[in-house]
Amino acid sequence: MTETERKLDLLLGDALAENETYRKANEHLVNATSAALAENALLKKRLTYQDDREGWVGTHGPECWTFGPRHYECAIRHINDMARGAIKKIRGLQK
Ligand SMILES: [Zn+2]
Repeated sequence: MTETERKLDLLLGDALAENETYRKANEHLVNATSAALAENALLKKRLTYQDDREGWVGTHGPECWTFGPRHYECAIRHINDMARGAIKKIRGLQK
């Protein structure tokens, strides 16, 4: 191995070590980002529920019955729809 090759070899070793350090840092950031996103989703859900309970948000939409007490009527409608669907299915099976 020539002197130049030896120096290149050392540089390559340094570069690989540095790369490994960045890889670990990146892995940590990915995990932290993932945890933050999960927490954000949970907080958003809680906030939606609280906003709704306190009457700040009154819009109805698909699955709004999951938002909280202000959508009690929506939940009842959803349950009735499910019950009607089940009855229809049972009647279909009996024929
Ligand atoms: Zn609703």
